[in-house]
Amino acid sequence: MKRILTILFTFYFSLFTLTAQEYPQGYFRNPMDFDIGLSATFGEFRTNHFHSGLDMRTGGAIGKPVYAAADGYVAKVSISPWGGGKILYIKHPNGYTTVYMHLDSYAGIIGRVVEGEQYRTKSYSINRTFDPGAMPVKKGQLVAYSGNSGGSGGPHLHFEVRLTDSPDLHTGARIINPLLFGLPYSDNIKPVIRGLRVYPVGGEPIAVGKDNSVSVDGPFYLGIYATDAAKGSTAKNGVHRVEVYLDGKLFFKYSPESLVTDSSRMVNALIDFPLFRRTRQGYLLTRILPGADGEWVTERQGDGVFRLTKGEHKIRVMVYDIKDNLAEQTLKVQVTGEKVCQKPKTDMRYTDPYVYNGNNVRVEMHPYTLYADDRMRIVEGNAVTVEPTYNPLPPHKNYNLSLKGRGNYGVPPEKVTIVRLEGAKRYASKTRHRDGWYTSQVRDFGTFTLAVDTTLPTVKPVNFSDAKLLKGNSIRLKIGDDLSGVETYNCYLNGSWILAEYDGKGATLTINASGKLKAGSNELSVEVTDACGNICQRRYAIRK
Ligand SMILES: [Zn+2]
Repeated sequence: MKRILTILFTFYFSLFTLTAQEYPQGYFRNPMDFDIGLSATFGEFRTNHFHSGLDMRTGGAIGKPVYAAADGYVAKVSISPWGGGKILYIKHPNGYTTVYMHLDSYAGIIGRVVEGEQYRTKSYSINRTFDPGAMPVKKGQLVAYSGNSGGSGGPHLHFEVRLTDSPDLHTGARIINPLLFGLPYSDNIKPVIRGLRVYPVGGEPIAVGKDNSVSVDGPFYLGIYATDAAKGSTAKNGVHRVEVYLDGKLFFKYSPESLVTDSSRMVNALIDFPLFRRTRQGYLLTRILPGADGEWVTERQGDGVFRLTKGEHKIRVMVYDIKDNLAEQTLKVQVTGEKVCQKPKTDMRYTDPYVYNGNNVRVEMHPYTLYADDRMRIVEGNAVTVEPTYNPLPPHKNYNLSLKGRGNYGVPPEKVTIVRLEGAKRYASKTRHRDGWYTSQVRDFGTFTLAVDTTLPTVKPVNFSDAKLLKGNSIRLKIGDDLSGVETYNCYLNGSWILAEYDGKGATLTINASGKLKAGSNELSVEVTDACGNICQRRYAIRK
């Protein structure tokens, strides 16, 4: 069965590539009144994912009208304090779904339905699908207002076009560059190649200097850092296509027209990840690790490593934006030897499961957690270190990490949590306990230990004081937790549950109490629980 799926899958993709240029043109309108100005492009490198949409500028403000890009119906609404924040999905009859993220609010009936759902489930976060008849929309209909909700770094609209029916449920959603649908967008400024680096296999990277020449004594791969600019924008946006020619012949081509969400994390293996983490400069690598062989690299020789004969070779790098504006640079490579690199000593295959059973630590990984064979380094001590030796990349999937408790912590076991140490910072992950062992699903390598969390979450009024008169109808509070993190939060006004919007990045709860406050004194009760079950309850008298 799996084989048949694979064949179907391959067939589908070859079909997909063939028709890549045939996205319906002019079907979708600009979802906003602004001329399209981008603060981020499709496919940009981010930690743990490719940016999968367009970030459209909204004049630095929130609350700007967002319109349905075409006829269709509201297929889904999801709301979270993190990630995309308030999200709207509109399904269109042409097989595509448009997605609008970081919204401030929903318009008209959509807003009323969403709020009804939040009160029904007593939860700010929702994830709800709708039937075609529930909320049909017309092209250009006002559906929402732009915002800065979720993990957004400033007001903008994140806009996506997805294929409604994904070819294979296991790959997640297929997301396509919206600019391939002929949205009105102009750009006549060419990209900038900001840096080239040569990575000798088994050696230290060499930054290419102004003379554009470099000397190596064995196999190497190339790293390219390029950004794009558009009129009226200072943003260092991502580029659309990168081609690398070796002595006049195409060697490597990167051109992500679409992406599937489940492989988005492979971006970590596509770039020089440690450098990106330090500097935010995304050097695209020509070398492909076998477990990160995504469709975004559409042409390449072998594994993308240059294995050249002695002498001088020319490498030409051509970088395009979506409007085919071109930046290029030619590198002279003097190859002085044909050093044969020793194969690194690996002890795990990335295609197999991996299990480690130590005295105080157990590690269990699914196949394809890493992108290449490696040698796991597990050091047991007061803290435990788990990391691959050769490719220092985050794991593709969650893995199970178990640490043995060291005696009695003097607290119930649910107050003990696994934390990852990074400098002075501690990052807790949801931990369960059994027979003296603490287990967590983690998605990082690094150094871990056990910590006790008995501290209550915090709740602090922002725009009001207890027993004092409230100005306006909005009530704001800061909530937080020192270690395991806020797990649940509930607010009650005069004994009834009231919707409180939680902004994760600002750690703020906002209650719109318009029409819900009675004259005189009102009781607001706030209850916040952390992941270790510590509960903070606060009561305030709010006068109106
Ligand atoms: Zn975005």
